[in-house]
Amino acid sequence: MPASDRPSLIRRTAWPESVSRPVVTPLQPSVVYASPSPDALDDQYEGRTEGFTYSREGHPNARVLAQKIDAMEGVRGGIVTASGMAAVTATLYALLERGDHVVAGNQLYGRSLRMLTQQMPRMGVEVSFCDPGDAAAVAAAMTDRTRLVLIETMSNPTLRIPDVAGIMAAARRTGALVAVDNTFTTPRGYRPLEEGADIVIHSIAKLLSGHSDAMLGYVAARDPAHMQAIEELSVTLGLTPSPFDCWLAERGLYTFDLRFDRAQQNAGALAGYLAGLDGVERVFYPGRADHPDHARAQSMLGGAFGNMVSFVLRGGRAAANRLTAAMPDLAFAPTLGDVGTTLSHPASSSHRALSAEARAELGITEGFFRISVGIEEIALLQSEFEKGVHAAAQA
Ligand SMILES: *Cc1c(COP(=O)(O)O)cnc(C)c1O
Repeated sequence: MPASDRPSLIRRTAWPESVSRPVVTPLQPSVVYASPSPDALDDQYEGRTEGFTYSREGHPNARVLAQKIDAMEGVRGGIVTASGMAAVTATLYALLERGDHVVAGNQLYGRSLRMLTQQMPRMGVEVSFCDPGDAAAVAAAMTDRTRLVLIETMSNPTLRIPDVAGIMAAARRTGALVAVDNTFTTPRGYRPLEEGADIVIHSIAKLLSGHSDAMLGYVAARDPAHMQAIEELSVTLGLTPSPFDCWLAERGLYTFDLRFDRAQQNAGALAGYLAGLDGVERVFYPGRADHPDHARAQSMLGGAFGNMVSFVLRGGRAAANRLTAAMPDLAFAPTLGDVGTTLSHPASSSHRALSAEARAELGITEGFFRISVGIEEIALLQSEFEKGVHAAAQA
């Protein structure tokens, strides 16, 4: 057959007909969408019909994922972004203007702190930091220019619980917006918008997707005008997620409830086990009666204390090095929410930029470790930590 009689290999052909449908969410990587006519395109752009145009502006895999997280958070119209930081960025840049003031928790995620200390002043936005466990301090830090309060539901790595209700009450009195990063507690533990917050933010890369293979974030706002501003900014800045990452994360959500329950159960058991080991000086877990915010965690999280556990090993940096060397099967990596347990050492990673004094003030010594507890068999975790703590004591 002469090449000219053959159907062009370049033309995309129609998808095969099938009366049956795939049971798995299709992955749609198309960057661009073809419309039937200029009139039809007008209808799409004017919102008279539904349709995708260009994937930076939105695509089916992001929509499917966003709608699932919307349902978890009890909101409509949230968006998925290329990372958790993209969600933080979209929120701050969309809602703040030159001259505005922000009050932020003083133990926020490191990059969020950098965003506030390095980028916001360049935009002419002033930021004050204070302890979110003290609602009176937050109220005192607010001025008549305070437009936004940014907090996280659990601090890293000492797992302190902020007085979110007190902060929301203070913000209501002045009309400031409250944005809550719910990454550590997830909607299983807390639903900020239902409790009165204005904006909820997630790093989906953590517990929600759960397999450390998709870099994504999520943001939703209670007020549709805020949501529209955030989405508009996200599309303009190109903070859009990849379809494949969205597809992976949606797949991860199928098991979210199971993973959360199992990891939380493991965390409670591991916290108790570590507290009983000689080489362990102190254990931090909001579910334990000896945690300084246990009562607040109990009422705010309704018993969903989560999967994060921290502990202080006796013996300082040398002991810390021996512990990680003795636990080679456990990923020593500063992330959280993976199906597998990961261990991080804030003094050498997330909190290395702080002075030793500033770290000491937070209780982060050289023996301090944070565990993101996974879904392994608890007996395996206990024997690994037993081995690690034992090795750490062998000077
Ligand atoms: C990881 C994380 C972020 C940032 O998310 P990325 O997806 O890494 O950009 C923000 N807040 C918290 C609490 C996080 O743990």
